[in-house]
Amino acid sequence: MSKKTILFLDVDSAVQETLTALLQKDYECMSLQSGKESLMFFEDNAGSVDLIIVDLDISRKTEFALLNWVGNNSNHKNIPVLTIIDLEKSEDIGVAFKMGADDIIGKPLNLDIVGKRVQNLLCVGSNRKVHNVMEDLLQAEIDEYIGDLGMCDCPICRRDLLSLTLNHLEPKYVTSERGAAITKAEKVASREAKLKILTQIAYCAQVVKKRPNHN
Ligand SMILES: [Zn+2]
Repeated sequence: MSKKTILFLDVDSAVQETLTALLQKDYECMSLQSGKESLMFFEDNAGSVDLIIVDLDISRKTEFALLNWVGNNSNHKNIPVLTIIDLEKSEDIGVAFKMGADDIIGKPLNLDIVGKRVQNLLCVGSNRKVHNVMEDLLQAEIDEYIGDLGMCDCPICRRDLLSLTLNHLEPKYVTSERGAAITKAEKVASREAKLKILTQIAYCAQVVKKRPNHN
């Protein structure tokens, strides 16, 4: 099995040395600074990165812009982000989570904790790569036919219909390479499959209609 890749973004050199010493035995380690060029490089190669470690002591100069950028970009928003933070600046913690950090480690770094967090987040990342295409198919059909189902079309009922119908259909899992969009072909159901989906939707719509989760 090939080694997973960890990207250090804006991590200061002393910290980076410590982390590399700890992690390089088990992982590929690479590092980038938040210059435009290096970020563009990352953008193109996001598919090969399994975990991002961002040091906010450096990045906060740009008011968390880097973290924000990582979290919002479709190429890499599924890559887990571990954020290094100065715990004395406790106001940073909430902001970091809001901006999409999956976890935070405080300075000074405790290497046992770092090792464990890295393992945990890599697990989170592998799970995110598994996607149930059936959910997309269903969502599209529900959006198209909600008006014909004779039921309330509010967001709550739509969501209930989606989750109830999902339970009745066989899931169709694909491994999406981080961020890479599921191709359209994978989302197109066969006629037969589509009919099955529509039948299930109609059936579940009756159930939701009878017992809406609101007044
Ligand atoms: Zn409703």
